[in-house]
Amino acid sequence: MNYDIVIGLEIHSELKTSSKIFCGCKNEFGGEPNTRCCPVCLGMPGTLPALNKRVLEYAIKAGLAMNCRIAGFSKFDRKNYFYPDMPKAYQVTQHSLPICYDGYVDIDVGYETKRIGIERIHIEEDAGKLIHSSTGQGSLIDYNRSGVPLIEIVTKPDLNSPEEAKILLETIKTILEYTEVSDCKMQEGSLRADVNLSLRPIGSNTPGVRTEMKNLNSFRAVQRAAQAEAERQARVLDSGQKVYKETRRWDDHKGESLPMRDKEEVMDYRCFPEPDLPPVYVDEDFINEIQASIPELPGMRRERYINQYGIPKYDAGLITQNKVLADIFEKASEVCGNPKLVSNWIMTEIMKRMNEEGEGILHSYLNGDNFGQILLFLDKGDITHAAAIQVIDVLLETGEEPIVIVERLNLRVQRDESLVANTIKQVVNSNPQALDDYISGKKKAFGFFMGKIMAELKGRGDPSQVKEILTKELQRYL
Ligand SMILES: [Zn+2]
Repeated sequence: MNYDIVIGLEIHSELKTSSKIFCGCKNEFGGEPNTRCCPVCLGMPGTLPALNKRVLEYAIKAGLAMNCRIAGFSKFDRKNYFYPDMPKAYQVTQHSLPICYDGYVDIDVGYETKRIGIERIHIEEDAGKLIHSSTGQGSLIDYNRSGVPLIEIVTKPDLNSPEEAKILLETIKTILEYTEVSDCKMQEGSLRADVNLSLRPIGSNTPGVRTEMKNLNSFRAVQRAAQAEAERQARVLDSGQKVYKETRRWDDHKGESLPMRDKEEVMDYRCFPEPDLPPVYVDEDFINEIQASIPELPGMRRERYINQYGIPKYDAGLITQNKVLADIFEKASEVCGNPKLVSNWIMTEIMKRMNEEGEGILHSYLNGDNFGQILLFLDKGDITHAAAIQVIDVLLETGEEPIVIVERLNLRVQRDESLVANTIKQVVNSNPQALDDYISGKKKAFGFFMGKIMAELKGRGDPSQVKEILTKELQRYL
């Protein structure tokens, strides 16, 4: 491609406060349609909103975690539009004076660290949800989501590839999870991103015309949509035509975007100050209090894992990307005392299961304590590698303590020397052909005996012990 790609993201994240932004309704995903709303979040005439202080606190917390400056004075505006998902015909947002501004987030692209500017983070309310009938007979509206608190994180156009856009979204998701301001459940729409993208000829400083793609709700969709849009714009420019400033809808199934033909296309929002909410003043003490409540963030934790536990940067990066997983790693390392072993097992057995079954297994019976106990058995040589996998499987199913599983399934490594020696003698005697082969110099026969003996010991033999005794036993025939 003869162009540089320029991307900025607008990320919407629902805050996990217990009540909504301007009323006492429950802020919770799902529920029977229209059961979690009241005259305030339905925007009935004569009602008055009151700002939920927790919303302000969470927005500031997110801002501080993304190195933003916090506005001592901010205010709310009405963004006017007429659409059934917003019965009062305006959305309350912070258009002119956002609560956080001028921050940055560092992302890892390959072996490089790249700093992405955060232009602003502002507070706003979510709208209701339209459910369109599949038979085209009409639409239904669920206002449970009306008035759910959101923050919108607007980045500077510092991203230069679809991959960087994906990595930034992953990084921000992790920060929001660590600070516990959002649960970031993308499948439930509590984290979604708009991609603004333009192209400019390589080496040029003149920005190109940008398009916007709305409501992408997976990392994969963000990366694919950006890739497809960059290619589309390149084709348009290469053929001598113009790119138009427009909003496009990404169709993840078809893998293409189309211009939008609804409210977003021709809207002139005519923002003006919200008269029903007073401006927000934030003092230093409040900010300092919030700053003190910010936990160790993923980047810091990763560095600590590398330095303190000596695990590879790549592994540390992947483990710290998920706070629950990182907590499991730390607890298990403490219990088993061998962080490298724990990290290896997370990178293989746990990641494999997360890929197959999703993150749910991190919220199941598995925890840092029992995982650490299993690996301690393994590290001490009490159970074999295969048995450790078996214990994890059973634990995920039954929730039993590792020691109970090990005893019940009789998984302890068999080290009783006379028993092992007898088993070896018996196997050697009952396989005369293999013995002849061994005596005549066919070394493959040794492996055959090993396999037979381990099977006889039901996989519980200690391979090094078996090997040692078998060598002695065979020596007698040479
Ligand atoms: Zn309400």
